[in-house]
Amino acid sequence: MNILERKDIVEIWKGIVAGFIAKPPLHPEEYEIRLTSGTSGNEPILIVRRHEPLHWNALRRVQCSGSMGVRLQHLLNALVDEPDVPTRIWALDGSDIQEEMGPLMEDYAPDGIRGSCSMILRAAGHIPAKTRAAVSSAVFGGEQVTPALRQAAERAFPNAKLQTVYRAIEVGSISEEPCGHLPFGHNHPAAGFGMNVHDPDKQGVGDILVSVALSETTFIENYRTGDLGRAVTGPCVCGKEEVFEIVGRRGQDYVKLSGATLRREEWDRVADALRLYNDYRVEASKVVLNGKVQGKVLLRIFRRDGAGTEALAQEIADKVAKTAFVTPTRTYSELVATGLLAPLKVEFSTTPFLRGKKEVKIVEK
Ligand SMILES: [Zn+2]
Repeated sequence: MNILERKDIVEIWKGIVAGFIAKPPLHPEEYEIRLTSGTSGNEPILIVRRHEPLHWNALRRVQCSGSMGVRLQHLLNALVDEPDVPTRIWALDGSDIQEEMGPLMEDYAPDGIRGSCSMILRAAGHIPAKTRAAVSSAVFGGEQVTPALRQAAERAFPNAKLQTVYRAIEVGSISEEPCGHLPFGHNHPAAGFGMNVHDPDKQGVGDILVSVALSETTFIENYRTGDLGRAVTGPCVCGKEEVFEIVGRRGQDYVKLSGATLRREEWDRVADALRLYNDYRVEASKVVLNGKVQGKVLLRIFRRDGAGTEALAQEIADKVAKTAFVTPTRTYSELVATGLLAPLKVEFSTTPFLRGKKEVKIVEK
């Protein structure tokens, strides 16, 4: 099968955008030009596409987004969605999140909030409890919502229905707007999207490949988005057949390593359960030992109290290895016993870990 990678999409978009500028369509105002964020470490991509209305029935919306471009897009959304419905939108960016926001939010009384979960949670810290309790819909996108983030969101918006959407700027909204019947993190593919899970493992998790029309004349097939997901069987109450779940970003939230799977949510759970360190980073790599591939994991930890003896490192390594599941039924220690993984190594960091726009806790080296 021919799989399109990000570099292929970069080239395809260059051609489409050049064509758009050379020969604009009859109604260019129906189109939007966007730039991908480049936060994934890749070159940003300039794209142009017909504006997609958002079918979200929140009337007083808060949209948390990182950039001016996204803010403008959402303002446009509010204007063109359903002209007869008096939708209002507060497009919030990082610099707006401050103490003074509280009384204004109370006055605005939003019923829906949307954006990346971490940013919504940061904003929630400045929104009065009563105002948060009146929010009935929270829609997350743009980052993987770990169980810890989800629980925090449930506490912050106790009466909201929490849902996710899946999109990638370079291809558009891959999922439909939530139908309201699916479990958290599950979605239906949007109309026009073909979805495939490539090379699934025993749990059915593989690369998400999408096929879609990028423009009136360009159809792409099997583009690897970089996210991992699984197809879920069975029709939904709403009548749609196809359901998929995104489990994370390849090499970030979800790393496959010699028979083991390192999942961010599991390492968060272990950190919470053991309470032996305040923050952590996992570095996974593969080594070849006597002709066999073995997975190697370095757990770097930060302790606010600064304690860091070699004996403590060993003690933490033992406890974590016995607690962390790396397959549905087996712990890290059990995979060490089979030779698939090297013993877990723990190293202390004397300084706190840097936090980027997206917090990456597991890396593949
Ligand atoms: Zn449904």
